[in-house]
Order: sequence, then structure tokens, then C-alpha cells
Amino acid sequence: MKIAIIGAGLAGLTAAYELRDHEVYVFEAEGRIGGKLHTVAFDAGPTDMGAEAFVARRADAVEFFSELGLQGSLVRPSGLRPRVYSDGALHLLPEGGVMGIPARPQDFFTEETNARIAAEQPFGWTPGQDASVGALVRAQFGSDVVDRVVSALLGGVYSCAADDLGLRATIPQLAQMLDQLAAQGPVTLSGAVAALEQARTAAPQAAAGPVFATFRGGYAELYEALAEQSGAQIHLDTFISGVQAQGAGFQVHGAPAELGTFDRVLFATPAPTTARLLSKVAPQAAAELKQVKLASSVVVGFRFASATDPQGASLPEATGILVAADEPDMRAKAFTLSSNKWPHLGQRPGCIVRASFGRFGDDALVRADEDDLVDFALDDLQKVSGFDGRAAGVEEIYTQRWFGGIPCYAPGHLDIVSRVEALLADTPGISATGAWAGGVGVPAVIAHARATAARLVGQE
Ligand SMILES: Cc1cc2nc3c(=O)[nH]c(=O)nc-3n(C[C@H](O)[C@H](O)[C@H](O)COP(=O)(O)OP(=O)(O)OC[C@H]3O[C@@H](n4cnc5c(N)ncnc54)[C@H](O)[C@@H]3O)c2cc1C
Repeated sequence: MKIAIIGAGLAGLTAAYELRDHEVYVFEAEGRIGGKLHTVAFDAGPTDMGAEAFVARRADAVEFFSELGLQGSLVRPSGLRPRVYSDGALHLLPEGGVMGIPARPQDFFTEETNARIAAEQPFGWTPGQDASVGALVRAQFGSDVVDRVVSALLGGVYSCAADDLGLRATIPQLAQMLDQLAAQGPVTLSGAVAALEQARTAAPQAAAGPVFATFRGGYAELYEALAEQSGAQIHLDTFISGVQAQGAGFQVHGAPAELGTFDRVLFATPAPTTARLLSKVAPQAAAELKQVKLASSVVVGFRFASATDPQGASLPEATGILVAADEPDMRAKAFTLSSNKWPHLGQRPGCIVRASFGRFGDDALVRADEDDLVDFALDDLQKVSGFDGRAAGVEEIYTQRWFGGIPCYAPGHLDIVSRVEALLADTPGISATGAWAGGVGVPAVIAHARATAARLVGQE
């Protein structure tokens, strides 16, 4: 069977690997493979400028990496904890809770907020309903909890404020617990979070071991292994502009060349692009998918000569620093202290730090001049940690802009995905996958791409 895959990001390359027994052509608009996985050759060694970790508790992903022969490349983080910069100081993240949503008062919050948490009023919840995470937590606990912790934590994953994210897609376990508790009447957030904490304590095995892992040589190890072992013909610098039905197959239109006809087409591009490409072959699915918006971000990676500046100020003993969403005069939203987070990077000369900027609905920083971004990153890093990166010595800098980096999992997102998938199931010969479909994390993207590829060739 002759199959075209559009997009050589993680989803497209995983699908190509899954379809390795077929004649597969992958068309990629950019001059490189990997999409939002991008390992850059710093002088001190390969360094990720997109995704830099994955949830290692996903056994399916770890097994998949073993199947690719990459088990020896997996490395674990240091075990240090992140900090949050809020009210002009660094704090440890509050203990317990779910994505920063607490079950009980915490020293971290103001007295007023703690009084609200302690006296939370029950609310009505209809099983299966969705809600904006920010709106729900704001209504129950007030803005302090949302702006100081929840948005910082969720923003680190989704590049969106909590107000723009749907509970069911981004904290599904909490939505399910609310569904369960709603059978007995009105619910509270604190009650649902406490029930989840209890379930966690009752299953210590499941929670054993570090949550995250990564690849010693960066994500390039993964995307290069997928490309090679797929045996697919990968065409770089090939922008696909349209797909049309032709007889029992599909004509794929692109530049620079006419690309021919295929028995099957798998779309592995971001949601708005997939919507545009589906418009002739599956117009209803295209209209649904068009509703999914993207959030942009920019990562500035540094290697400093030292983790201590000449004045003796050091970076904190933490994996990273999240910046509270309501912190005034801050532009960076987070710093990953990569050399602290990953022992294999800590062994390299100097000290690697990644600064991240940008949230859904505000592209100004993503478009900012490169020199300005570097200054913002260095100024903000000094503000949150006291560490003067300029004085410590900047050895290397890499700026990576991610326009449309992450799909925004807004309230109702899962319903959109269900409708798109149902419509595509009725359109033989084409399928779609990617970070918009089954979750933005690397294991989720892989799982969805594999299942979608298997279904595509399972159809007759
Ligand atoms: C800054 C950042 C940090 C992240 N950190 C993590 C992390 O630490 N852990 C984690 O699990 N996940 C992380 N993620 C999420 C994860 O990296 C992504 O969800 C995943 O890599 C997306 O893969 P994809 O194949 O769906 O999409 P993409 O990587 O976007 O791939 C789509 C591909 O399609 C190509 N394309 C687009 N249009 C066309 C066209 N018309 N014709 C041909 N080709 C086209 C694109 O060039 C691209 O290569 C992060 C994401 C970002 C942006």
C-alpha cells in the first residue's frame, strides 16, 4: 500500500515507523525532521530546545523506546524540586494537591485564600460536563490559587493560562473525581482533590520512581531512530498545500513538485493546518478541527561559564523556576535549570538554563527581537535568583521560536476531537493524528499516532 504522511514531527515519524511494512512517503515543510522536538548542537553537547522530558510512568512509551533500541539512552532527573517565583520571592511548590489545586489551606497562600479554601461552598456538577480550570478554581478558591500556582504549572505544559484550558482535557482525573462525587450531590474542589490524594497514597507502587525521563543525547535520538527504522522516504522542504480524492486514492499537492497519488493519507500536522488540508476530502471534520487554536512560545537556551557569578550569587538548587502569572514586571514565564535538573547535563562544562516566554493569546514576546529576548531572560533570571548571567559569562545562546507550538486544550476540546475522529472514521483512506488529538505530551502523541496508523491500514 502506498501511503503519504504529511508532517515529520513526532506524530508523523511514529506513524511512519508503525507503517514500515508499507511504501511510505513523509512530506515535511521544514528543512529538518522532529517538529517540536529539536536537539541543537551546543558546543558542550546536544541540547533540547523544544520538549526536554517525558512522563516515564507511561510504560507504553518506555516500551516503545526499548523496541527502538533506545532503552540505554534513557536518563532520569536529579530529584531536586522546582520553585515558584511569587510575591517577589522563591517558594517551594505547595505540597500535595493536583496541578496546584489544594485540598486544604497552605502556608503559601494568603490568609484570605486559606479561609476560602477551608470554608469552600459546595457547587453543582453534572457528570460529563467540562469547565475552564481557571474559572472553576477562581470561583471556589479565588484568584490567588489560579494566578500564583495553577496557571504557572499548567502554563508550563500548555503555554496557556488556566482560564483558557478545559478541566476534562488537562486535569482529567479531577474531572472524573467530580463526576464520581456528584452522584452524592453537590461537590467541592477541596473534597475532590483530597479524594485524589487519598487514592494516590493507597497506590504507592504506581507512584514509585521518578515521574520524568529524557534521552542522554536529546530528543534527536528518538526522531532520528524513528526516521531511520521507518524505512520511509522522507521529503524535506516539501510544503503540502492540498489533498484531493482521485479515484480510489488521493492526489497530494505540494511544492516544489507534484507528489503523486496515494492509497492512504495520514495528516500529522498541527490542527489548523490539518483543518485546511482536510477541507476538500473531509469538509465537516475540517470545520470542527478549525476550532482548535494554537499557543506560541519562545525558548532561549543559555550555557553560562559557571553557575555562580563573580559576586558569589548562584542559581538555586532546583530543577526550574516557574513564574506566577500575576507577578508584575516579569516577562519570562519559566526557567528550566537544565544542569540541575539532569545529572548528565550537570556533568558538562558550564551551566545550561532555558528561559521560556509566551502564552496563548499574546504573541508579542514570541515576535520580540532576539537581542531583547536575551536581555529579558538575563534580567528576569537575575531578578528571580540573584544570579547575574552576564557576569558569570554567557558561552552560548540559542533562540527557538515556536509559532503555534502547542494546541490549546480549551473547554470542550475532547468533544471536538471525538467529533473529528467520528467524521474521519466515515472517510475511508484518510486519518489524522498529532498533539491536538490524544494529548500534547510525548507519550500521548506516540500512542495516538500508533493507533491511528494501525487503523488506517486496517480499513479495507
Ligand atoms: C516549547 C515546547 C516544549 C515542550 N516540552 C515538552 C516536554 O518536555 N515533554 C513533553 O512530553 N512534551 C513537550 N512538548 C510537547 C511536544 O513536544 C509536542 O506535543 C509534540 O512534539 C508534537 O508533535 P506533533 O508531531 O504532533 O507536531 P509537530 O511537532 O508540530 O509536527 C508537525 C510537523 O508538520 C510539519 N508541517 C506543518 N505544516 C505542513 C505542511 N503544510 N506540509 C508539510 N509539513 C507540514 C511541521 O513543520 C512539523 O514538522 C513541548 C512542546 C513545546 C512547543
